[in-house]
Amino acid sequence: MNKTGYFTHPDCRKHEMGAGHPECPERLDAIDDHFHATGLRDSLDRREADPASLADIELAHGRMHVAALRGLSDVLREEIEAGGPTHTQVDPDTSLNVHTWDAALRAAGAALAATDAVMAGELDNAFCAVRPPGHHACRDKAMGFCFFNNVAIAAKYALERHGLQRVAIIDFDVHHGNGTEDIVAGDERILMASFYQHPFYPVGGARSNAPNLVNVPVPAHTRGMDVREIVEMMWIHRLEAHAPQMIFISAGFDAHRSDDLGQMGLMEQDFVWITSRIMDVARRHAGGRIVSCLEGGYNLGALARSAEAHVRVLAGL
Ligand SMILES: [Zn+2]
Repeated sequence: MNKTGYFTHPDCRKHEMGAGHPECPERLDAIDDHFHATGLRDSLDRREADPASLADIELAHGRMHVAALRGLSDVLREEIEAGGPTHTQVDPDTSLNVHTWDAALRAAGAALAATDAVMAGELDNAFCAVRPPGHHACRDKAMGFCFFNNVAIAAKYALERHGLQRVAIIDFDVHHGNGTEDIVAGDERILMASFYQHPFYPVGGARSNAPNLVNVPVPAHTRGMDVREIVEMMWIHRLEAHAPQMIFISAGFDAHRSDDLGQMGLMEQDFVWITSRIMDVARRHAGGRIVSCLEGGYNLGALARSAEAHVRVLAGL
């Protein structure tokens, strides 16, 4: 059994983007309730993290992007006090409320605190049940429900603040992690491996052919067995050759067959299998060090069961 951290924070619930939005606070409740009901939570080291510092956020984001979001948040607060609208739209799917800024700092802060705890050997690995998610957030742009790229910030932090030379980012969300790609493309210290439904959101985003990316587009309705083959054929030898000293996971569960925001056919057992293969690589090269952060997953039942399946493997249960 491993010492597995479970980072979450009440502030991450306060961010919401309007009634009926799929990226909703109830996602975190569904995970927490299910971890509790299944007894998994008793096996995890539950922690709350401090907000990330702006200096650490700026390891992955431009100073102007960070300042602009803070400015939008400040203006929104003033407008609400003057009787104005409760949300500021940053793209058709993505908006701030008055709590978004704090939630985004807590989400990134969780990834950083998890990195510190795993690097210190207090934890073997960690799962961060946080929102807003991060993998669509580009260096200079918030989009697709994402403001700060939690995983990319943590990966850069591990390199810059902990002195690692090589890390990997693995993204199994149904959507292309265009923001992560934007931030890490060309940084040979970071190997990014993903699969994603294509063509699909985000459409039209420039895709990089940088050699440190193994991002594999797959058609709608791709099933788990085909994804497993892609992982074996495309990811594993690249990960082995890169020999990452720590692995970060963008853990989106919207490739589940029951998730209506994607059209892929994964099941809980596929998340178990993928997580196990990542654990194999981590054991061989990284002393088992893994920090996993929640991305998508919008069918609350499938999300909770898939997150449980993922974290059970991390915990060695
Ligand atoms: Zn997604």
